[in-house]
Amino acid sequence: MTTEALYQHFLTCTSISTDTRKIEPGSMFFALKGDHFDANTFAKEALAKGAAFVVIDNPDYYENDKMLLVNNSLEALQQLANFHRKQLGLPIIALTGSNGKTTTKELIYAVLSSKYITRATQGNLNNHIGVPLTLLSFTKNTEVGIVEMGANHQREIAMLCRITEPNFGYITNFGKAHLEGFGGIEGVIKGKSELYDYLSENIKTAFVNLDDPLQKEKTQNLSRYTFATGTYNCDVRIESTGAGPMAQVGYNGLLIKSKLIGKYNITNISAAITIGNYFKVSDRKIKEAIESYVPANNRSQIIEKGNKRIILDAYNANPSSMAAAIDNFSLLQENPKIALLGDMFELGPESNYEHSRIIDIMSEKKEISTYFIGKDFYQAKTEKPNLHFYNDYEAFTASFSGAPDNAAILIKGSRGMALERALELL
Ligand code: ATP
Ligand code: MG
Repeated sequence: MTTEALYQHFLTCTSISTDTRKIEPGSMFFALKGDHFDANTFAKEALAKGAAFVVIDNPDYYENDKMLLVNNSLEALQQLANFHRKQLGLPIIALTGSNGKTTTKELIYAVLSSKYITRATQGNLNNHIGVPLTLLSFTKNTEVGIVEMGANHQREIAMLCRITEPNFGYITNFGKAHLEGFGGIEGVIKGKSELYDYLSENIKTAFVNLDDPLQKEKTQNLSRYTFATGTYNCDVRIESTGAGPMAQVGYNGLLIKSKLIGKYNITNISAAITIGNYFKVSDRKIKEAIESYVPANNRSQIIEKGNKRIILDAYNANPSSMAAAIDNFSLLQENPKIALLGDMFELGPESNYEHSRIIDIMSEKKEISTYFIGKDFYQAKTEKPNLHFYNDYEAFTASFSGAPDNAAILIKGSRGMALERALELL
């Protein structure tokens, strides 16, 4: 079946689904293949559960004209998404980078949706399946689309750009995330820059943080709309307004106070302001949108529990975001301070070095009692009075006797460590 024919069927459907457990009546079900399953085997079940059509790529499962046979279901999904995107012709902003994509995406969404009908990536659906699903969720009423693009190897962002055909792009930063798949930091820079390559080849515009020397350099020859807290020429000037646990900035004479912790969120907020400014959202609406945004999903949340203040950043961790979180935690005035730090995954051959480096940082911070949890930190352990090491979460809970009164507690680790579990111990 051609993409165009598939599109005619799509237009009669309520939504797209790829999971038989979450089928909406009237949806189009794509039978994709995973490591452990082949959804062609669920085709019949999907129809029974209310799907209007199922897209299959194995003729052995074809039974009736509700089944749409294609060569490859995943490619059909991607081509359909691109076809739909072309039909809509709306402005789309693509976001990638090592850290802060989802936070930035949500801030941009908050700002732009105060003026436009805006659609954005749901949650973290940012890969070769999530991006097409995001595009297919845009409708003819959608005025601006925001698409988060994640990658852990080369050519992935290039592929997501071909599907999305963004009009604008923003790279949050190049950091030490997914080092294993990209082949080190140079590989990360090259891989993420595929967004800049796309914008350059198609004469589209990049939003650029000029405070970041690498972003500045990589976008020299691009059409760009820039921001900075520094003193150089830029389109949008952001005033840095001093330290505090909550990120705040000055913009056009307004003080904007967010509910986000961490200095690094100043950059995320600045990007959202800049994009709002470009799309002519009023200063007052930009301020309101950013001030009312509350983070969710264990990302940079502050939880007050009795007389304790917990900074829950257990959504994920890599060497750059870990260092940024520690840096920010150091600024807090509370005493005593406790850090629960879990292993950082997917670092490949750099893993031991990067875990040791975080241990070194914490051994200098004698005022913080740090509990390292996981085998990677455990392998790199050193003897220091303020540092404690546990091979796994169970070993930690067996010996941890709770946090003292008035403590500030930082919780951060890779997703797989699920350190939000520790909340109940505090
Ligand atoms: P993922 O790769 O999982 O999609 P992401 O890029 O979408 O991650 P977020 O979910 O927004 O990133 O943030 C994850 C964590 O990264 C935050 O909890 C915070 O610790 C850190 N972080 C957020 N923004 C920045 C930034 N600009 N620089 C460094 N670290 C950041
Ligand atoms: Mg994300």
